[in-house]
Formats: sequence, C-alpha cells, structure tokens
Amino acid sequence: MANSKYDMRIVFLGPPGAGKGTQAEVVCKHFTLEHISSGDLLRSVVKSNSPMSEKIREFMDKGLLVPDEIVVEIVAQEIKKDRKGFVLDGFPRNLTQAEFLDNSLSPLNICLDRILNFVTSPQKIIERLSGRRICPKCQAIYHIKNMPPSREGICDKCAGPLLQRNDDKEKTIRERLKVYSQLSEPLIEYYREKEILCDVDGDLDVDALFEIIKRLLENPAISDYSD
Ligand code: AMP
Repeated sequence: MANSKYDMRIVFLGPPGAGKGTQAEVVCKHFTLEHISSGDLLRSVVKSNSPMSEKIREFMDKGLLVPDEIVVEIVAQEIKKDRKGFVLDGFPRNLTQAEFLDNSLSPLNICLDRILNFVTSPQKIIERLSGRRICPKCQAIYHIKNMPPSREGICDKCAGPLLQRNDDKEKTIRERLKVYSQLSEPLIEYYREKEILCDVDGDLDVDALFEIIKRLLENPAISDYSD
C-alpha cells in the first residue's frame, strides 16, 4: 500500500449536511489517506444483520447518537489499523468520544494534526440533506440538484439503485441538528483550545472548498483559510 506523502490525522467537525463526507472522499483520494466515517461504519453493521444491527438502527433512524460504548469500539478497530493517516468524518461527536480518541492515539504515538470545522447555514443543510441520495451498494453520494447521477435513480459507479437515507427525511434532519448543537458543538471549543482547529466555509461548492482545504493541509503554518 502506498504511503501518504503527508501522513496526516485529521478530524472533520460540523453538522450533518455540511459536506464533510463528500470533502473527505476528495481529500483522502488526493492525499492517500484512509476515510474513516463513523456513519458508514455504523450503516455497514446495520446492513450485516448482526445482533447489534437492530439496536443501532433504532438510534440512527431517530437521528440520535448511537451509544458511545458501541461507536468507540467500532471506530477504535479502524484507528488501530492506521497505516497511512486518516480523515475522521463524524467522529468524535461528543466530549466523551473526543477524550477516548486522545487516549487511543497517544499509545500509538500519534496525534491529531488538524481539525477542520465545517461552518454552514441551516437552510443549506436542509437543502443538501433532503436532496441527498446514496448508493447503498458502493456508498457513492449524489444530490438530486447539485450532483445528479447521469440516469435518474441509478448509481454512475456501480449501476445500483439510489436511495434516500431514512435519517435524511426532514423531521429527522431537524432532530439531528438539535443533537449536533447540544452534544457536538462543545467540541469546537475543546479543539480550539488545543489550537489545531480551523473553520472552513461548508457553503462553498466542492471544488472551491477542496482548494482551500488542500492549501491548509499542505501548509501547517496556516491557521485560517483567509490567511
Ligand atoms: P452521519 O453519516 O455521520 O451523518 O451519521 C449518521 C448517524 O449515525 C448519526 O445521526 C448517528 O445516529 C450515527 N452516528 C454516526 N457517527 C456517530 C458517532 N460518532 N457517535 C454516535 N452516533 C453516531
């Protein structure tokens, strides 16, 4: 496996629908990093019909956080495999998970290099999430207006049928946003104090935001995207 030239450990923070998943794909491809998405990991456990599946599905479908003891176990397994650096997308989502992350990285002698905080408006989030469609087979992400597939309802990459996630329905989106502001927003201060957090504009389109993120990651001395 190719080593990443940059060997970075990055966390993407931000509300659901801020564009973290899409940006993580692009960033990981460019810098050869592992994309660790706690949401994708949990969705694959749900799909596996294991004894845990039903329990996890109940929380996810309601837009609630899956209990920490389940999530940290699943994410820890991925972090331990760390060979070429990673982008953590959707984890940590509360202070307990952030402390767990610090405690799992220090015995491996690694630390987080950057936390990118995706800042976006609630209208943009509703618009993005309610129009999002995903391919359950290959995890590709589309948007009915901004990034439509070439054939309606069909994945360009694997020809699988596209679906709307249960938790992308408007009522659940609102619940997810409430959970985000109560539990995840305190993480912004937590990481700002460690001086590794940098805000990025999640309202920008994918290419424009990637250019900014690329510059930030290639230049550790830059602490603000307007620098
Ligand atoms: P996401 O794909 O990141 O939007 O996550 C979808 C759902 O998975 C969330 O609404 C939660 O129910 C669950 N989830 C993902 N990551 C976490 C996490 N770090 N802690 C708890 N629940 C999570």
